[in-house]
Amino acid sequence: MNYICVECKSTFPLESHKWKCDCGGLLNLEFDKKPVDFSKTSISKNHSLWKYIDTLPLEEADVWQEVTMGEGDTPLIKLAENLYAKAEYYMPTLSFKDRGAAVLIAMAKKLGIDRVVADSSGNAGSAIAAFGARAGIQCDIFVADSTSDKKIKQIEAHGAVIHKIPGTREDVANAAIAMVEDTQVFYASHIFNPLFWEGTKTYVYEIYEQMDGKLPEAFIIPVGNGTLLIGAYIAFKELLDNGQIDKMPKILAVQATACAPIQKAFLEGENLVSPVENNGTLAEGIAIAAPARGSEILKAVRETNGDIITITDEETMQARKELALKGFYVEITSAVNYAAYSKYVAKYPELIDQKVVLPLCGAGIKSN
Ligand SMILES: *Cc1c(COP(=O)(O)O)cnc(C)c1O
Ligand SMILES: [Zn+2]
Repeated sequence: MNYICVECKSTFPLESHKWKCDCGGLLNLEFDKKPVDFSKTSISKNHSLWKYIDTLPLEEADVWQEVTMGEGDTPLIKLAENLYAKAEYYMPTLSFKDRGAAVLIAMAKKLGIDRVVADSSGNAGSAIAAFGARAGIQCDIFVADSTSDKKIKQIEAHGAVIHKIPGTREDVANAAIAMVEDTQVFYASHIFNPLFWEGTKTYVYEIYEQMDGKLPEAFIIPVGNGTLLIGAYIAFKELLDNGQIDKMPKILAVQATACAPIQKAFLEGENLVSPVENNGTLAEGIAIAAPARGSEILKAVRETNGDIITITDEETMQARKELALKGFYVEITSAVNYAAYSKYVAKYPELIDQKVVLPLCGAGIKSN
């Protein structure tokens, strides 16, 4: 198993602890995976994402057994005719980031790592801190000083050292990277480390199983750095390569109106995403002005014949209220997905007759 540079194709063993190629290129992961045998997983007694071990970068008898907290296998709930919600707040730290953190931290433990650094707008930090605590790995988590108190308390409760950085999300990332460079500690980044998507891809595997061996026509996916979006795309490709689907579903991506660099590049037909000004949004979980994986995200959306729209804070708050009145209490950022469904149906009326899945990414009590 190796990291492979997306630019120059150099490979590095995982033991190198590289997070970026010497040429500056981002790293992806290459390893042998087997197709998942869904006739086995659908009757497995393992009610977590680890039942898909055949397509994950660890072995059946491996350290994940000491790290898992039952993450994954979240319910798929019918919200309306043809519309399904995947309730990702049923996770140990109440957001889908546990999928990636479980796999990344299990691998870190396997590599004998005892200390990691991560930076986050909140939920990835909570997930890394919790799985780090579970695995006996010390975590240094960098967050913006504007991050919601509840998320900071959650991270601190797990014994992680919190570094509150004034400035933008990019300043936070730079501070984390400076510590990684200074101390040579393992960078448990959900943006740079491709092990994270090996976890988030299980979101799609579960839906495939829950829909009896089919995927919906479209996935609504919120996007800042692309943690869920790139994971979903990897799963689509694997299922396609294995002949388990014959066509990729559309990725209908969602950004916040006040911070939408990927949508801007998409509309302008660009392949590279230029940073924008973050004009301030309540959707803090996706407020990423300079997404490092912008090109990969654009490629994934275009390849699936998908689209990207934006949602205003007003629409988000309205959608959050509507969801809560139906019984689903989600964090503010998560409500963009429900708001996006109505907007997408208005844009593409044929969607109303097609199956669509949206994620309820995080729990309501995470927001103030
Ligand atoms: C992480 C996260 C997202 C997706 O953001 P990415 O930056 O694309 O990973 C969406 N909603 C919530 C609640 C999140 O925590
Ligand atoms: Zn390179």
